[in-house]
Amino acid sequence: MAKITRRRSSKAKPEAPKRAKKSRKARAAKLGAAAKKPSAKLPKPWTPAEVREAFTRFQKANPEPRGELEHLNPYTLLVAVVLSAQATDAGVNKATRELFPVADTPQKMLALGEDRLRDYIKTIGLYRNKAKNVIALSEKLIAEFGGEVPRTRAELESLPGAGRKTANVVLNMAFGESTMAVDTHVFRVGNRTGLAPGATPLEVELGLERVIPPEFMLHAHHWLILHGRYTCLARKPRCDVCLINDLCRWPEKTV
Ligand code: SF4
Repeated sequence: MAKITRRRSSKAKPEAPKRAKKSRKARAAKLGAAAKKPSAKLPKPWTPAEVREAFTRFQKANPEPRGELEHLNPYTLLVAVVLSAQATDAGVNKATRELFPVADTPQKMLALGEDRLRDYIKTIGLYRNKAKNVIALSEKLIAEFGGEVPRTRAELESLPGAGRKTANVVLNMAFGESTMAVDTHVFRVGNRTGLAPGATPLEVELGLERVIPPEFMLHAHHWLILHGRYTCLARKPRCDVCLINDLCRWPEKTV
């Protein structure tokens, strides 16, 4: 069995779930608005050479980027991603460090039961609903997939609590597929930089897949998440230390 992965955790305090949800929605609406309005002026598209230059810099700075959600195997990765909806990775890791040593398979999770699972994850927003989903998805994995995490998008999306983003993260991190999961950070970076403007996560996902050269796609998701989480921050982007500040199309960038 693989060892538990300890990743550098964000020092930022987890936001209260309700506030985080509201502010994320507000920010997403603002960012996506430009792409939605027919009259809105979209930034000048990046040239293929510019995109290649940006990802070459990300690669040079961090050749093997890693996700920050701690997990032991594909099943615990799936559970961690389901728990991470509208929550921080650091907050999820804090709970799963206690949970996963006792429940790292669907069978063990069912043996633990919903009540005790709720206790382990009660510091995570929406934990009641998430506990229900984790139990239901564990039952479905056993009933329909031999207790294994399936490897296709359609099968992953059929699991309770799992949507397109969850499927993309699992396909990428557990099975090495070049998928692009769009979370709040990737959505912001895709829009702000002008790399892939879009009013919805799906538009941004498809836009990024169109412009990013295939050889960068395996790690592109993590480079963009980490860029959004630590550099292109929602409220105060750190444009002065940004690797791609000369390429970024955001009119409000501070360099
Ligand atoms: S220049 Fe500023 S706005 Fe543009 S990607 Fe960098 S941090 Fe984000």
